[in-house]
Amino acid sequence: MSRNKFEEAYCNRNDVMRIMPIYEVTKIFKEDLKRFSGYKRTFFCPECKTAPLVYVDGATPYFRTWSQVKHAPDCPLQQDVMSAKQVDAYMREPENRDKIVRELRKLFLLLFDDDKEKRSEETPFSKFSFGEKRKNRKEVEKSYKRLPQKRIDVTLHDSDFMCYKMFYGNVNLLWEKYSGGYKLVLRSMSSHSFICRIYITNNSLFIY
Ligand SMILES: [Zn+2]
Repeated sequence: MSRNKFEEAYCNRNDVMRIMPIYEVTKIFKEDLKRFSGYKRTFFCPECKTAPLVYVDGATPYFRTWSQVKHAPDCPLQQDVMSAKQVDAYMREPENRDKIVRELRKLFLLLFDDDKEKRSEETPFSKFSFGEKRKNRKEVEKSYKRLPQKRIDVTLHDSDFMCYKMFYGNVNLLWEKYSGGYKLVLRSMSSHSFICRIYITNNSLFIY
């Protein structure tokens, strides 16, 4: 297990009181160290806004908690998570993969309740697929030692695909049928901006 790694932080500083994505902080760090020093001790857990975070300027920069820090008691981000390597090893075991697929099936069956009568013989999907770019997944994984966590309502980037990543937060979810299966559209609760679409066919699950 490793300590949480974050891709964004809640910044509480005179002129800034908002969620700051890691790339924004990296830009300040690289371009203006003096300005960056003004951000010291201003970063907190993006969910509970209580646990202090520090910026780590690695090959892939990230925020992490100070050792022994406390999140708010109900903060979902306080538990330790598996490292990216551990998640990869876990997902290589067919029975673990099956377990996750079973749980996701249950979830989708709850969403698509109108298909009750088909439940026994037809399931929304039977396997995961990372699509054609799957071969790139290794490269993305290599750059992460810890399993990254990211707010789901912050804009997605290329690095958010083809890898294992834990998303958290709340979104507006719209789901509908289309000719090939089902489609979920995720939008930000606050700004309503588009986050991504998830297509679910009988065989696969695609995220765009
Ligand atoms: Zn927290």
